[in-house]
Amino acid sequence: MGHLYAGNKIVGAIFIISTSFLLISGIFYDRLVRNLIIIAGSWLLIALLAAFSANSYNIKYKSEVESLSEPGVLCPNCQTNNPVESEECLKCHKNLKEVLFYKNSEGLLDFPDIEINKTEIIEYKKGLTGKRNGKTEKYSNLIHDVEIKNYAIEPYIQINFKYKNKNGNIKKKFLVVNKYNLEEVKKALDLKNIQYVDNRRRK
Ligand SMILES: [Zn+2]
Repeated sequence: MGHLYAGNKIVGAIFIISTSFLLISGIFYDRLVRNLIIIAGSWLLIALLAAFSANSYNIKYKSEVESLSEPGVLCPNCQTNNPVESEECLKCHKNLKEVLFYKNSEGLLDFPDIEINKTEIIEYKKGLTGKRNGKTEKYSNLIHDVEIKNYAIEPYIQINFKYKNKNGNIKKKFLVVNKYNLEEVKKALDLKNIQYVDNRRRK
């Protein structure tokens, strides 16, 4: 995919050079020919920009769709798609059998990706661009007072809970998940023997 992109960059550079040449050479012709060349050059430039943006969009879109459509186990840690029934991640060796719930959040809002495994709940934080920034937050101790509520924006819900931090203090936290993933989240909490109350308002 990197090669493909580099190849298009070269083609793009050739286009830019030839377009610039056309635009500059237009100055030396008579008015009608010059105007025609400028118009043609401008069209070429617009077509080029459109092709470029479509291409970069396509690359992004394709990689997202591929990661979703291929059957397998997506590693929460490094996002490698592993073969079905994999015990551990081929790339980072994360134990995949311990993972009870994992969803990479998509959409306009850059919520962290959430993993619930047998020992902890992990948030994979994201930057402004919606890509992971490498930071994680882990909640492992004494997760209690779990309450499922409506989030301000559809189709999301929030999961409020309390936990004990490294210093032994009880802290409050909430996670945001898509409501279509709620059943899977509940199943994961059940497997961890964590009690919860569902206080969502019916809309
Ligand atoms: Zn991995």
